[in-house]
Amino acid sequence: RKRLYAEIIDEPAVSQDGVAMSINLNCGLLIDLQHLSDTGADGVGLYRTEIPFMIRPAYPDVEAQTELYSRVLELSGDRPIVFRTLDVGGDKSLPYFAHQEQENPALGWRAIRIGLDRPAMLRKQLRALLRASAGRDLRVMFPMIAECAEFEAARAILDLEIERLARSGAPQPRRVLVGAMLEVPSLIWHLPALLPRLDFISVGSNDLMQYMFAADRGNPRINNRYDPLSPPMLNMFRHLVGLCDAAGVPLSVCGEMAGRPLDAMALIGIGFRSLSMSPPAVGPVKSMLRSLNVSGLSDYIETLYPVRDHSLREKLRAFALDHGV
Ligand code: PEP
Ligand code: MG
Repeated sequence: RKRLYAEIIDEPAVSQDGVAMSINLNCGLLIDLQHLSDTGADGVGLYRTEIPFMIRPAYPDVEAQTELYSRVLELSGDRPIVFRTLDVGGDKSLPYFAHQEQENPALGWRAIRIGLDRPAMLRKQLRALLRASAGRDLRVMFPMIAECAEFEAARAILDLEIERLARSGAPQPRRVLVGAMLEVPSLIWHLPALLPRLDFISVGSNDLMQYMFAADRGNPRINNRYDPLSPPMLNMFRHLVGLCDAAGVPLSVCGEMAGRPLDAMALIGIGFRSLSMSPPAVGPVKSMLRSLNVSGLSDYIETLYPVRDHSLREKLRAFALDHGV
């Protein structure tokens, strides 16, 4: 892989017709950050903070978390890192945190729902993130936001911590940018209220797809039944891009589809300009982008919104082949 894509690591992530994309990494461990330089990614679009929590024997206190996040920021150099607050309780559990058995964990007490019900835990994490970001930008986003009020509640907790830090006289972050993950379909219908209140949105397409189609993302019996390249998803994405562009809110996708070249091509054609993916996906996606004519693709995608059947993936593949992508 490295040899195959090595020659484009330092080349810009720009299409044939000059459309620039921001290509970022999904990370969870310190060791993942080395891929920033060996892939040439712009930054980290999703730092899953629960991963270091999952591999520890005990809950990391504020000091331990501050040290960890400082190290992450240090390793990133000047590149932006988007920290996602703890997302546990669905498919991820912590060995030292008593999770009750839940009939439907994906629909249950997880992510920001736990954060808002156990604010001490969320506050400690935000305190550590703020301390670690002294003198630089902090980008933080909340997982599984279902409505504007949840975002506001999470943001109010962050504001308390910002005030606390200010009172203590400790050095502050230069800026704090706050975002939401879009993973729960209800939020799409609350975006007009939400968009003026936040700094960015990141689409967690793994969960969003699971909830859109009511199809368990981990169930092999239905894994291939629905496709992110399908008319319902395409139309939903178009709606989303339209709203975010109109509001001037940066939008990105950090689910697995962003790292699959054909799916990424479709997202670019729909109008996404920022993607975040696992490190091995950067080379293939960037190479696809560099051979792409975005304006031709966008025109073609316009014809696909009314499609009724399962032919989108084939159609997009044919487009890619015909156009030397
Ligand atoms: C997603 O849901 O698409 C996402 C990026 O979050 P995770 O895979 O960690 O749930
Ligand atoms: Mg998710």
